[in-house]
Parts: sequence; C-alpha cells; structure tokens
Amino acid sequence: MRAQVVVIGGGHAGCEAALASARLGADTLLLTMNPDQIGHVSCNPAVGGVGKGQLVREIDALGGMMGQAADANAMQYRMLNSSKGAAVRSPRAQIDRWAYQNWVKARLEREERLRCCQDLAVAVELRDGVVAGVRTFFGRHIRCRAAVVCSGTFARAKLHLGGREWPGGRNGEPPARQLSESLSALGLELFRLRTDTCPRIDGRTVDFSKLVVEPGDEKPQPFSFLNDRARTEQVPCYSAWTNDRTFEAVKNALDRSPAIIGKIEGQPPRYCPNIETKVARFPEKRTHHLFIEPEGRDSCEMYLNGFSTSIPPDAQEEMVHSVSGLEKARIVRYGYAVEYDAVRPTQLRDTLESKRVGGLFTAGQVNGTSGYEEAAAQGLMAGANAALLASGRPPFRLSRGEAYLGVLIDDLTARGTDEPYRLFTSRAEFRLLLRQDNADLRLTGKAREIGLVGQDRMERVLRLEGAITAVRGVMEALHAADGDRPGQLLLRPEENWGTVAARFPELAAAPPRAAEQIEIEIKYAGYVERQRRQIARLERNRRLAVPADFDYGAISGLSREAKEKLSLIRPETLDQALSIPGVSPADAALLLVKLRR
Ligand SMILES: Cc1cc2nc3c(=O)[nH]c(=O)nc-3n(C[C@H](O)[C@H](O)[C@H](O)COP(=O)(O)OP(=O)(O)OC[C@H]3O[C@@H](n4cnc5c(N)ncnc54)[C@H](O)[C@@H]3O)c2cc1C
Repeated sequence: MRAQVVVIGGGHAGCEAALASARLGADTLLLTMNPDQIGHVSCNPAVGGVGKGQLVREIDALGGMMGQAADANAMQYRMLNSSKGAAVRSPRAQIDRWAYQNWVKARLEREERLRCCQDLAVAVELRDGVVAGVRTFFGRHIRCRAAVVCSGTFARAKLHLGGREWPGGRNGEPPARQLSESLSALGLELFRLRTDTCPRIDGRTVDFSKLVVEPGDEKPQPFSFLNDRARTEQVPCYSAWTNDRTFEAVKNALDRSPAIIGKIEGQPPRYCPNIETKVARFPEKRTHHLFIEPEGRDSCEMYLNGFSTSIPPDAQEEMVHSVSGLEKARIVRYGYAVEYDAVRPTQLRDTLESKRVGGLFTAGQVNGTSGYEEAAAQGLMAGANAALLASGRPPFRLSRGEAYLGVLIDDLTARGTDEPYRLFTSRAEFRLLLRQDNADLRLTGKAREIGLVGQDRMERVLRLEGAITAVRGVMEALHAADGDRPGQLLLRPEENWGTVAARFPELAAAPPRAAEQIEIEIKYAGYVERQRRQIARLERNRRLAVPADFDYGAISGLSREAKEKLSLIRPETLDQALSIPGVSPADAALLLVKLRR
C-alpha cells in the first residue's frame, strides 16, 4: 500500500490534517482505530471560547472545516466578552456531538485524494533517516513521504476512576501502545500528561425549574465566513451553583481521588482543574459555577461543565445530587481521567515537523495541548506542511504577528509546555490585530497562494476588501467636500457606525462587514499604536537584569501562572523571563514597567 501522506488518528487534529493534505493535492491516507469515532467530541459538546473561537475563525479562513462543521451542527451560539473590546470577543457554539461527528466523517468522504481505513499504526519506518512508511497492527506496510501523528489522548493511555485504572484512550476505547515505543526508538522525548472529563446525566431526571436558563445570543453569528447567517433553532443551556454539601461530598472523597493521592503520573491542565483540585487547593471557595449543557438534539444526555473529576462513582453520585435541581439526576456516564504520552513540542520545527526525523509531523493533543480547536489548528498546519514536503514545495508558516495559530505554534515549539497547553487571547502580543472578525482578511490570501483555499472563498474576501476601500473612499470624499469627518466622530466612545451613518446618509448603504471593520480599525488605531510601542520597548529591553530577590507577587495584573513560574525559576534577565512557558508578553510588559521603576 502507498500514499504520499499518512495521517495517524481521526480526531480533530487528524481530520484537519488529512483534509489540508488532500486539498493541497497529496494522495492522503487517514489511518484510524475506529472510523465510527472520526471527529469524536471527547469532552465538552462545544466549539470555540476565549482564544479558541479566534482559532476556529482562522481555521475557517485557511479552508479548514471546523467552523463549517460547528455551524452545521450548532445548538446555541454565544459571543463571549461581547460587552468588552473587539480584541477579546470570542465566538462559542454548543454543538450536537453526534451530528457533528457524522458531518465531519461525511465531509472527509467527499474529499478527492483522501482515503480512510481502519487500522492501528504501530510504527513509523525510516529510510536514510527520513520517513519512508508506517507499519500497522493488521500487518500493512504503507509506503509514504510524510506521516502526521495525531494520536490525541491515546498513546500508552490509562484511564482512572476512583481506585480503578485500566488501559484506554477514552472510556470504551483501547489505547495505542506500540506507537509510543516506535516514537521513542526514533529518538523523540515523550512525557506524560493528564486530563479529566465530567459526568453526563439523564436530562429527564433534572428539575429545570431550579436551574438558571442560559439562552443563546439574540443575533447569533456563524463561525464560517462562507455562512452569512447562523441557521439554527437555538436550545437553552442552564447553570447552577455548587454548595456546602457538594464541597463536603468532594472533600470526603479526596483520599480516594487518583489525582489528589498522586496515583496519576501525568501533569493536569492548570486552566481546567478538576473539582477535587479546586476543593483541595482553594478550600475558602465553597461554591463553584456549573453549566448544564445539552449533548445533542436527539439525546437526553447533559454535560456537567465544571464537574470534571475522577473521584469514585459513589462520591460522584453524592456530589451531583447535592446540587439544587439535580437531586434526582441519574448519571449516565461517570467522569474519569486519562493519562497519556505527549511529544515534547520543542523537538519540532515551526512547521510541526520533527527536527530529528524528516517527514515526521505531530499535531494536536500529542504535542502537549488541550482542546479541539488547538488540535484542529495544528492538524491543519501539519497536514498542509506534510503535503508541501511530499511534493517538494516550500513550507507554509504563520508568525505570531499574523495569527493565533502562529502564537500557538511558536509557544509550543520555542518554549514548550509542561502541562496541557491552552490558548488565551493574552498569549498574543498583537491581540488587537489578531481579531476573530478579521481572520479571513488576514489569512485567506496566504492560504490561496499555496492552494489551500479555492477561488470562490478568495473572491468573497476580495469583495469585502473592495467594499472596505469603497466606503473609506466615501468617507474621504465627505471630508474633502465639507470638512465633515465621520472618522473623527467614530473615535468618540458614545458613537458607533449606526449613529454616524444616521448623520451621513452616504454611509448608510455600507455593507455591514465592511462597516464593522472600518469602525473597529478607527476606534482601535490609538491602542494598536500603543501596543506596537510597548512591543518595541520590550524588544529593546530584553537584556535588562532582574534582581534575584525580585518580588513578583507585588506586580498587580500579573497572571497567577506567571507569578508562580517566575518566583520558582527566578530568571536573570527579561529575555529569560519571556522564554518561560506560561509567561505571556503582557506579563513581561508589566514586569518591565516594575523593573524600570
Ligand atoms: C477524559 C478526557 C478529558 C478531556 N478533557 C478536556 C478538557 O478539559 N478540555 C479540553 O479542551 N479538552 C479536553 N479533552 C481533550 C479533547 O478530547 C482533545 O483536546 C481533542 O480531542 C484532541 O484532539 P486530537 O485530534 O489531538 O486527539 P483525539 O481527539 O484524542 O483523537 C485521537 C484519534 O487518534 C486515534 N488514534 C490514536 N492512536 C492511533 C494509532 N496508533 N493508530 C490509529 N489511530 C490512532 C484515536 O482512535 C482517535 O480517533 C479531554 C479528552 C478526554 C478523553
């Protein structure tokens, strides 16, 4: 058997990798353990969120499928941070997990040059130090030019629930054991990570009258730039608060939690701690917010967002029943933890190719990240670069200043991570420029240059650019003719495009997306300039010394992660501080101000 590119694993990373590779013209084979689980949503039934929503827009702008898949299967949309500035507004959608998965599989099946087959990759084979093939459990030797490993939470994976532990990549699915051995034998350094998921309950046993209804946005906005409107009948989510009884139930189970008693080797995600870690680490916080989210339109199962855990089943029952409205809730699936092997991402180039083994790419959770969006974004880049390599073309890269995808890959490959990494808007230096609303304007042209997107998508972007130029022209003409300055008016906080267009009828017909871009650019121009100056100052001061006894706790606004890591590592210069995983440019800017004082 032969393919130009073999993608191992049909999760979010593998699906985008396979699609990008095939769309760039490479004969692509997707090998996955169980084709029924292609695009499976292992944890939260939602796509997007802060930082993550921006990534989905970028994936869409680059021709990936996650945005369209989310739109086709959304049950509820919310623009997070909608009352804040445009830089941090982040789209999120609740999705029907089963419909989503079916949609993704069908989309892959429509792609020319892409084949899928059920098998388990057990080894990556080399010739002259570069990838020559993949060997499988069923005895196939697939010859290829490049392989993309997207093994997610499956490599040498173990599941934990209370005192029980058993081999598995997800509950009900076996692990991938031999692949880890093969990667280690090729000289790749692996490390252990861990993540937990929440119990799912039967919605028919919930007393919704005691819960708070969380409706979707009145004017939902789709993820994909190809969709002008979000076409979905939205369903509500719900929220509730935990209480003293919940706290006691969890506290009483701490000595039976594999996460707390140190039975699990892997590092957990700092930004998504399980409920027992919250109780153990912050005993003064007696209540926590929970979101109760539907898992699908045709299912009664509901996801308890905020209750990820691996305490034993009896303690999970007590914990769930302590919440008002969930007294009689029946648990359909218990929460559990998974620990697995990840590849140290500093061993990768910025194309996600291994520095050690030519033609070997890794993407997704296996690179130490957490989340569908982070996985999909890396998958797209790794798949595209594998296809480019296979056809002898130059690689495709995105810098930190161009895309969140550039920030994600640079953070991983230049600084690494020691816990499941997730993206936040604060990780970017240029977040005023890297907005969710302008991802297509930033990226589609670049994707078009290498053939990753079609002409139809490019034309939509060109039409938008044309409309922006035309409206800008009208604004300049107004200024030249009468000295009227719609741009000056827009700078006032109380004004927006609607109020300004009411005064200048010439602007009333501006297409909404063009008007939105112009309004944001004008309102943020001053802040963007300030951000540029801040970054330049940071660059000039990289060699600035940091005193050994510096009190990081005294810097207000510094993230908790930065305070912890800086206090532990005690960098000698600002440059060293910036190279620590988890210390963002925003943190470094605050540190610089304090040092200067
Ligand atoms: C218990 C649990 C808790 C989680 N908690 C969170 C959370 O709190 N927050 C969050 O953002 N995300 C969480 N997730 C993670 C989320 O599932 C991942 O971020 C996302 O699915 C990663 O996508 P991926 O494509 O990298 O890997 P996965 O979705 O894990 O997909 C990997 C795919 O590769 C296949 N595969 C693996 N090895 C082989 C092989 N050798 N040969 C063939 N096929 C193979 C598997 O069958 C699977 O289809 C959790 C997942 C689990 C299981």
